[in-house]
Amino acid sequence: ATPTAVMVATGKGASQGVLIKGGNALEKAHKVKTVVFDKTGTLTVGKPAVVSSVLFSKFSMEEFCEMAIAAEANSEHPIAKAVTDHAKKLSQKYGSQMEHVMEVEDFEVHPGSGVGVKVGDRRVLVGNKRLMRAFNIPIGPEVEDYISETEQLARTCVLVAIDGRVAGAFAVTDPVKPEAERVISFLQSMGISSIMVTGDNWATANAIARQVGIQKVFAETDPLGKADKIKDLQMKGLTVAMVGDGINDSPALVAADVGMAIGAGTDVAIEAADIVLIKNNLEDVVTAIDLSRKTISRIR
Ligand code: ADP
Ligand code: MG
Repeated sequence: ATPTAVMVATGKGASQGVLIKGGNALEKAHKVKTVVFDKTGTLTVGKPAVVSSVLFSKFSMEEFCEMAIAAEANSEHPIAKAVTDHAKKLSQKYGSQMEHVMEVEDFEVHPGSGVGVKVGDRRVLVGNKRLMRAFNIPIGPEVEDYISETEQLARTCVLVAIDGRVAGAFAVTDPVKPEAERVISFLQSMGISSIMVTGDNWATANAIARQVGIQKVFAETDPLGKADKIKDLQMKGLTVAMVGDGINDSPALVAADVGMAIGAGTDVAIEAADIVLIKNNLEDVVTAIDLSRKTISRIR
């Protein structure tokens, strides 16, 4: 495209809340055949909330909540906020007088699986099954049942282990964005297929995919794994767009032919992307591709 055409299109995009960071993205977007969507915060609203909890151990609800809060208070993951908000209310309901988060040592983030911490002389882990496996924490049938029940409902199960045993769990829900299904089906009508990639587990990922009409899913993928999925698609000769919001999406946003960041996403994702959707609306994935198609066809 000529510099003028690019300028006109970028201006038009900007006025619609689609920030295109240069001619290259605009030139490539019209060729996109596949859009890869991150799940959490991209297809879903990204404001997870705890909907239920369960105790599996001798710990009191109050103690259990205090441990979960102590671990998650240090995490920036959206799930951590959901857990601390809920656990605070719950522990108050159970009579906790606690006013301060307990002091912790050795806080560790395990990207894509959870967090770990020492609270006094107790070891606390909060996260998914993968995290428990990595620390050789046994998962009994009772816990297994709660996990599968939770995941069937498109919820994420957050396990809390204290001193090597699963002490309890939370079920976290994060509803899909209202426009998600419509956008996926519109892309399909444009000849573009949609794929989901997520660090979350397979059962939850598949349940969310069903809700929005996505047929192809890659779950339990770490940040570099997300980028590898993009590269695999490109090896097949496809022009690929990636839509994401998190730090964990940035390698994939960079690897994609066209990286699109949700405006409400993290700075790192916005930095890594070629296009920023500042209205946080998935409809603008279509707006961006459409704008590119119109710009390119006018030139030829
Ligand atoms: P996504 O790709 O869906 O944005 P992430 O890669 O950030 O997800 O995380 C994958 C999974 O790891 C989450 O679904 C959750 O089960 C677990 N997890 C990560 N961080 C935390 C945390 N701070 N507390 C609880 N669970 C966590
Ligand atoms: Mg995300």
